[in-house]
Amino acid sequence: MMTRVRCLLSAAGIALAAVAGAEERPNIVFIFSDDHAQAAISAYQGLFRDVAPTPNIDRLAAHGAIFERSYCANSICGPSRACVLTGKHSHMNGFIDNEQCVFDGSQPTFPKTLQQAGYETALVGKWHLISKPTGFDYWEVLPDQGFYYNPDFQQMDGSVKRVRGYCTDLITDKAMAWLKERKPGGKPFVLMCQHKAPHRNWVPAPRHYGLFKGKTLPEPDSLFDDYRDRSKTLRKQAMTIAKDITWSHDMLLPGKPPEGSGFAGQMINGEYLRMDAAQKAEFDAAYGEENRRFMENLKAGKFDAAALTRWKYQRYIKNYLACVRGVDESVGKLLDYLDASGLAKNTIVVYASDQGFYLGEHGWYDKRWMFEQSLSMPLLVRWPGVIKPGVRSKALVQNIDYAPTFLEAAGVPVPADIQGKSLLPVFKNAGEAPAGWREAIYYAYYGERTHQVPMHDGVRDGRYKLMFMDPGREWQLFDLEKDPGEMRSVHADPAYRPELERMRALYLKLRGDYQVRSSLIPVRRASEPAWEERFAQKARQSRQAKNCDLVFIGDSITQGWEKPGKELWEKNFAKWNPLNLGFSGDRTEHVLWRLKNGNANALKPKVAVLLIGTNNTGHFMRPADETASGIKAILDDLRKRWPATKIVMLSILPRGPNAEDPMRKLNDGINSRIAGFADGKTIHLLDLSGKFLQPDGTLPAELMPDRLHLSPAGYQIWVDALLPKLAELGL
Ligand code: CA
Repeated sequence: MMTRVRCLLSAAGIALAAVAGAEERPNIVFIFSDDHAQAAISAYQGLFRDVAPTPNIDRLAAHGAIFERSYCANSICGPSRACVLTGKHSHMNGFIDNEQCVFDGSQPTFPKTLQQAGYETALVGKWHLISKPTGFDYWEVLPDQGFYYNPDFQQMDGSVKRVRGYCTDLITDKAMAWLKERKPGGKPFVLMCQHKAPHRNWVPAPRHYGLFKGKTLPEPDSLFDDYRDRSKTLRKQAMTIAKDITWSHDMLLPGKPPEGSGFAGQMINGEYLRMDAAQKAEFDAAYGEENRRFMENLKAGKFDAAALTRWKYQRYIKNYLACVRGVDESVGKLLDYLDASGLAKNTIVVYASDQGFYLGEHGWYDKRWMFEQSLSMPLLVRWPGVIKPGVRSKALVQNIDYAPTFLEAAGVPVPADIQGKSLLPVFKNAGEAPAGWREAIYYAYYGERTHQVPMHDGVRDGRYKLMFMDPGREWQLFDLEKDPGEMRSVHADPAYRPELERMRALYLKLRGDYQVRSSLIPVRRASEPAWEERFAQKARQSRQAKNCDLVFIGDSITQGWEKPGKELWEKNFAKWNPLNLGFSGDRTEHVLWRLKNGNANALKPKVAVLLIGTNNTGHFMRPADETASGIKAILDDLRKRWPATKIVMLSILPRGPNAEDPMRKLNDGINSRIAGFADGKTIHLLDLSGKFLQPDGTLPAELMPDRLHLSPAGYQIWVDALLPKLAELGL
């Protein structure tokens, strides 16, 4: 390969300075799998190191570095990939969850920047960011999640090709073919080889079907976790091996589960349906007899609950680890080729996975939570001449660090808005965190309906982990040194008070540093059944609404038109077929999500009445600027969505008994900011404060019994002020 000399700009002007040793810019081979837990890599010395070794991935640890404190920023497929590509947290790159997001491919990514800097860039395999890949000279990706058997590959020209075979092997072959077809001595390159495996539903390659036949694999200590001593929200998730794993999709059993058998039954094994006759025959030969025996014993009542969970766990873990074996073999093939071709000496090889996974810990499969198993990502890096062989690093590293690392390795300046840190100082320091390295990592999961894991965020330092559970607004604190399994939150333990305070300060600091402004990030209140139910109902009503000229949008105060305000609503607004989109407990970020996802486009109201923001204050005392920006984001959304609609924006109603109430004061600050958003044309301000407050600033209980929510008399004040405004706006 041609030797390239890095150009440096000297202060005196442009001068070419040969860097000592005039190194070639390194190639980058980035091998990325999906849902591969550290515990399933033998170099991490986890539970399966003896029964399911990964000798090829381990080669990277032996010849390079293994990172033992390697974390994702958001433990879910698409978001983690977006963090990797951009070097930014989810709220900055815009891909916060798999439900509502499309990756904005126009933003800078490390492949794109390297391409512009003269690298040849290629991507093969899983992508899962919805939009088409950008910044690659060549790509061939699985649509969405892709399939293990006879997968489709989306081509650069828009066509889709189905290829017979097993996904991990096909992706490896395509990556190898790209490497082999490159012109020797050409540009340096980035190759991203991204596997579907070992993602659910776990169907191994035929050669690995019987890998663990007849063996009983070890169980994690917390397989039967009862979730005591931690937030109650832990009990509400739907990702347990005991209750949530499915008969056909996950357990690869034929047909449907017998009634009352303790299996979730809805999802089918789509992989089997894709197999051709020969593949089906191989599958049946491998699983048929064991399936038959299991179903017979199940029917005969031979399983108690614990035994059934254990059976499910064994079936799950064997298939999962067999899928991992395919990935490990792929890594071996790529490493062998790099060695044989001579590329190895100037190629950075990275093995990572988009997040970790629960291999039965806490009774779970899947990911999402900030607990160690899914917060952790495997990260192994080989870079001859830069990383000493056999490094075991305990530096706190995160997936937002990959992009700046690759840029710096290629001698390309790291843009100032990248939030991750280049790992080169760690590489060059034998894996030790250099002075001034980060004290903690920040994590945020934004909540999805799937598996009902709530929105939560937090920070983890070298010893402690602080989590904030959004529903219930609870803190959780874990002492990972004394409680590595995270079985007991010590947030309420007086002995940990100083650590709780220290970690809370760190949490606020990192949220500030990373510019997390939650009021502007659209999120759903997944895991809250009452909210989900109301959302589904209101989405349906929005879709079916006829001649709906008046829409109310807000929180519990708006929702209250359905109870204390019901009569007044009927009497005064019914003629406009109004729709109440008030949701108790909502903050600006929830309204933003609902507008985006709640069929609001089916509506074309003449007037929308907006009252929101007091929960941003009440729940978190968020800064007035942030809440006002959240309200502004809602107004912007409404104007774009309903260009002909007039918006009546209410000032946040006074709360608290008197003018000294800190929440009242904070709301006043928000109100003074949002008043400026009214333009008198599209957005009209309605300020009712003076109608609720006594001259001395007290708030009468007759109008607001709890000093927050309205009585019927309070709603009457709203009616009296609103009706003339509606008339003025043409209703
Ligand atoms: Ca994943």
